[in-house]
Amino acid sequence: MPVLSILSRNDAQFDAKISHILSRGQSQDQAVEEVVRTILEDVQQHGDEALIRYTSRFDNLDLNATGLALNGGTIEACRSEISTRQYQALERAAANIRSFHERQKRNSWMEQDPVNGNILGQRYRPLDSVGIYVPGGKAAYPSSVLMNAIPAQVAGVERIVMVVPTPDGYVNPAVMVAAHIAGVSEIYRVGGAQAVGALAYGTQTIAPVDKIVGPGNIYVATAKRMVFGRVDIDMIAGPSEILIIADRGADPRHIAIDMLSQAEHDELASAVLITDCEELAQKTAKALEDELAILPRRDIARKSLESYGAIIVVPDLLEAARVSNQIAPEHLELSVADPFWLLHAIKHAGAIFMGYHTSEAVGDYIAGPNHVLPTGGTARFFSPLNVDDFVKKSSLVYYTPMGLEEVARDVEILTAMEGLDAHGRSVSYRVRK
Ligand code: NAD
Repeated sequence: MPVLSILSRNDAQFDAKISHILSRGQSQDQAVEEVVRTILEDVQQHGDEALIRYTSRFDNLDLNATGLALNGGTIEACRSEISTRQYQALERAAANIRSFHERQKRNSWMEQDPVNGNILGQRYRPLDSVGIYVPGGKAAYPSSVLMNAIPAQVAGVERIVMVVPTPDGYVNPAVMVAAHIAGVSEIYRVGGAQAVGALAYGTQTIAPVDKIVGPGNIYVATAKRMVFGRVDIDMIAGPSEILIIADRGADPRHIAIDMLSQAEHDELASAVLITDCEELAQKTAKALEDELAILPRRDIARKSLESYGAIIVVPDLLEAARVSNQIAPEHLELSVADPFWLLHAIKHAGAIFMGYHTSEAVGDYIAGPNHVLPTGGTARFFSPLNVDDFVKKSSLVYYTPMGLEEVARDVEILTAMEGLDAHGRSVSYRVRK
């Protein structure tokens, strides 16, 4: 029995399958919420002391012995623990990420009305401080350090703080080197909900920040959701997903591998192929079986494909784009002969990888665009992490006496409609005077 059977747009199960894919990872776990609420309150009340207790319990590390901050010496020492080639790859990725995000910067603007001299404008200012959560419980993610820190730095954020758990005291050198390359020097070895609490409320050692970004497990994600409002957050990232639109020219083996590159992440991940070529669908189903057999994480990948995978055959590529828009995938590969033609039909996707040679991993690591992307259909209204996430805007208004006189009557009428007399008088008094 193949891991994926082939579904057609007209099959009775089609709509149910799409809803099932979109609904994954949406449930909120009450037990986790209780745990996280307790941790956050504890950190708010007891500061560093609570961080020390939780780090001992969850990360098996005595912060009294090591200290909370990772100092420059430790970071420097990590440089010699990775190879020159690894360092170069991180630097190359960082340079590409920096130059891509530089293009997102916006200039403040002011415009004067030539008749009455009024000036209107918008001023962009970076946030004062940002906290970056770097996961470190089960694996290390130097690429996430670059993807989260560099846009903040490009935006001009003055204080970038990184928190990362160091279970059993192990400091991952690649993560530290990535932080160094990204220009982050304030680093604390705490993780989980307690780290999010420290960034939101502040402790004796860690000053609070204005915004918390970065991925993490369910405790981290729940804590971020709970401190939202006190501080800003980037987004609540759900399980990862890929959707591939392919035509008859695509290589079924490439498609199978790319699908598995998401499916192996976690059992809730989703991988979907939509094609106008029945033969490609059959060959991809077979290639998936072959590749699964040699994949070390095949059990996870198989469960993910069985629950949230699909191979869908549609009459043409425009129909494929319509189904893709319904799913609004985090990662979309257009593995077709003319991806630039098909692009016009795509409305919703976090990142779009175009052509037979552009595997998603290129975008995840080296190309430059951000790999922090909206999941679970939220690409309908969310964008990838970008420089705008680290700036805020102020509106600028300057009115001359002539300009004020021109609008005075309208303001009086509008404020009277809302019964706000002082608002109206603030204009009429100035004009009459
Ligand atoms: P993590 O740093 O997110 O979590 C480790 C922390 O979880 C520990 O320090 C501890 O404080 C807390 N914790 C563990 N068990 C707990 C418990 N029982 N009660 C309370 N707190 C507890 O590291 P992780 O666990 O390895 O998870 C990393 C996550 O980040 C994964 O889900 C991974 O998929 C995700 N990730 C996503 C992206 C992305 O771009 N979307 C990138 C990298 C990683």
